[in-house]
Amino acid sequence: MALLAWGLALALLGGALGQGALAPAVPTAWGDRIYPQLGQAGLDVTHYDVALRVPQPGTRTLQAEVTLTVQATRPLPLLSLDYLGPAVQGVTWNGAAVRYERAAGKLLIRRALAPGTPARVTVRLAGPAGRVPDPDLPVDLGWQALPGQGTQPGVNFTFSEPDGTRAFLPVNDHPGDPAAFTLRVTVPRGVTAAASGRQTAVQDTPQGRTFTFEQREPIPTYALAVHVGPLERVDRPAVQVGGKVVALRDYFPPGTPVNIRAPYERTGEILRLLGEWFGPYPFATYGSAVVTPPLPALETATLSTMPVTSSNVRVIVHEAAHQWFGNSVPLGDWSDTWLNEGFATYAELLWAQAQGKEEARAVLQAWRDSVQNRPTRPLVARTPAELFDRSAYVRGALALHALRGAVGDGPFRAFLQTYARTRAARPTRTADLLALARTELGPRAEGVLRTWVESPSLPPLP
Ligand SMILES: [Zn+2]
Repeated sequence: MALLAWGLALALLGGALGQGALAPAVPTAWGDRIYPQLGQAGLDVTHYDVALRVPQPGTRTLQAEVTLTVQATRPLPLLSLDYLGPAVQGVTWNGAAVRYERAAGKLLIRRALAPGTPARVTVRLAGPAGRVPDPDLPVDLGWQALPGQGTQPGVNFTFSEPDGTRAFLPVNDHPGDPAAFTLRVTVPRGVTAAASGRQTAVQDTPQGRTFTFEQREPIPTYALAVHVGPLERVDRPAVQVGGKVVALRDYFPPGTPVNIRAPYERTGEILRLLGEWFGPYPFATYGSAVVTPPLPALETATLSTMPVTSSNVRVIVHEAAHQWFGNSVPLGDWSDTWLNEGFATYAELLWAQAQGKEEARAVLQAWRDSVQNRPTRPLVARTPAELFDRSAYVRGALALHALRGAVGDGPFRAFLQTYARTRAARPTRTADLLALARTELGPRAEGVLRTWVESPSLPPLP
């Protein structure tokens, strides 16, 4: 239905713009099976440069100048960005003002883009962030705002999976187009900003204090983290993860009790263990930003967003694993969320096994109890309600355990590392995983995995 509505809106808009070239066949969305309205097929945003000003932390008001470096993988008659954010004050194309329209959740820029000729598109915006209702939870996705208390400044943070980033930034909002980010976040003095990537500068300006972050490796738009508030930054000793040095830092709200902070002291140990299975950590830095609302934890890139209520080692392991699976290896379609959630859930077993036989047995028993005699489904989701259901997490993890059982620990470990390495920054579908299983592990192993992926009933438990 969304696809129909969008096609209609574009047809009307084509008339309004008087653009004869806007034929109905123009590809304007990525073609996602779950969210057909998101993204633009043929558009490759390689970098977002975001100068973001948060004049009053804890409110929904923001100002930004966003420069997208864009290229086309096929001739595009116009640029169609996902956007439900603050009022647009102007758009430039390689520095020259250009016309734009807002319609049906899109910011349409009426310029053709040819393959081989990149462009820089700058959007200036100001005002309250937009609202994107979460499909499952009673929250709006995107820019979260918690008012301050007494003299304490308020807090803002991003919470965007699957499609909330468009509530505050114009983006090609599909995980199949991951991009690098530079973020310059300006906040009042006394307030701290944190974001995905490595902090490279802190500067005082007449408007306050500007924190700069570089996220050089591409990440999906939904995984972008920005946190603003009276945060305490805790730096920890760097760790070697799969042969790569990773800087560690966490952020806590003031007054966070010792028992909430304690599990984060194990982040380095967790990354090292995961690196033994998954290979080199894909980014330059990692850590968590703790938030107070009772939301689910979210694997925002290089800086997981961890509610106080989820501040335990098991959730830290899960979100850390997503840095490989989801953030570095991006989804090619939302119907494949089990490629994120099954792998991250499986990491919980890898951690438990490193703690001892009892812990591992308990995790496996909990998985069995949660899937036996319950509804199940093939792993590729068909509806939004299936994206984050028990099958995506637990059946997905059991599928990997069955594969491991079929091939043994050594080949399984090599397979995980090959998958993480060869699919980094490449939109990945279930078919890609199966094809890799066939070439790396052979047809019998692929058959085991395929049964777990495709069978309408639950295969015999490994
Ligand atoms: Zn997860």
